[in-house]
Amino acid sequence: MDIEYLINKLSTTNSLCFDELLYLIKNIDKQGLELRQNLYKLASHTRDKYYGNKVFLRGLVEVSNYCKSDCYYCGIRCSNKNVDRYRLDKKDILDCCEIGYKIGYKTFVLQSGEDLYFDDDKMCDIISCIKNKYPDCAITLSLGEKSYDTYKKYFLSGADRYLLRHETSSESHYSKLHPSNLKLSNRKECLENLKEIGFQIGAGFMVDSPFQTDEDIVNDLLYLKELNPHMVGIGPFIPHHDTIFKDYKPGDLNKTLLILSITRLLLPASLLPATTALASIDPKGRNMGLLAGCNVIMPNLSPYELRNKYSLYDNKLSTGCEAYEYHKSLEDTINNLGLSIDYSRGDNINWRRVKCL
Ligand code: SAH
Repeated sequence: MDIEYLINKLSTTNSLCFDELLYLIKNIDKQGLELRQNLYKLASHTRDKYYGNKVFLRGLVEVSNYCKSDCYYCGIRCSNKNVDRYRLDKKDILDCCEIGYKIGYKTFVLQSGEDLYFDDDKMCDIISCIKNKYPDCAITLSLGEKSYDTYKKYFLSGADRYLLRHETSSESHYSKLHPSNLKLSNRKECLENLKEIGFQIGAGFMVDSPFQTDEDIVNDLLYLKELNPHMVGIGPFIPHHDTIFKDYKPGDLNKTLLILSITRLLLPASLLPATTALASIDPKGRNMGLLAGCNVIMPNLSPYELRNKYSLYDNKLSTGCEAYEYHKSLEDTINNLGLSIDYSRGDNINWRRVKCL
């Protein structure tokens, strides 16, 4: 197989088969770095073709670090007794949104551990309050696995999007990253339910998570291609000192960029963030992500004094240049890359809100 041929095929047909993707991932750097640069360029052009050379901003509110789940890789999993737990109340969350709205954000992302305190009534009240106050804004939720009915209530209260990374599409790999009560089949069913209800959905996975093989990554990419989510979240795995994976290496920057650029070409219309994890493993990570086809940044809007408590992994950036306080410098950085901030809601171009069945 010829790498140059594969890259061109990927960029013109937006698909490759399992063997082709595996060959590309394993061999792209064998003849120097030129082919990789070409891949990034094609990914950026594809982003520009579908969305223009724009970057969309999402204000991230980390609602609670209480979690009933025990995902082995995650710093806030329930069995970590060293976490100083907090949860925001409705007023705190609305205050965060107000700060974001003043800067110009048109999407608020509520992310949280799986905190049972927020029953359907509480969460729907928060969603509808944000929506009433900011009807021109989109609400994205990232609250984990819930029932069909709960998702439907969230949607009817005004939520527009839902992020739920599938984490890995391999059953055996999934069971090495999660306790036995968490099932890949349930995670996938949640994604199908969210899609059926009418959300813009986001799936994704970590690069270089423990036990991950290149074959797993290819299967993740093919799963994403088939699911065709509106958003894709892919960032490097980063160890957390209070987890059993504390001695594993953080994900590789170049590998993450490679997977992001391939994802852009496989799913040309996707909204693809240069994640906080990518920015956390390298000071240039976020910019490099934007040059490899990403088009979303999620600045942190959480209350300053609580940010270091939402510690999914070690050295997670939260108060540096990805935070809202540095908005001006973020704007300059993005402009210097030949991109510009788009202050619209930034919905996926193939999505329209339709009334729930
Ligand atoms: N409770 C929500 C939000 C989880 S945190 C849910 O279940 O979806 C959001 C994402 O952070 C996770 O999906 C996971 O892919 C990522 N994450 C968690 N721990 C991480 C780590 N150690 N390194 C990198 N990413 C991590």
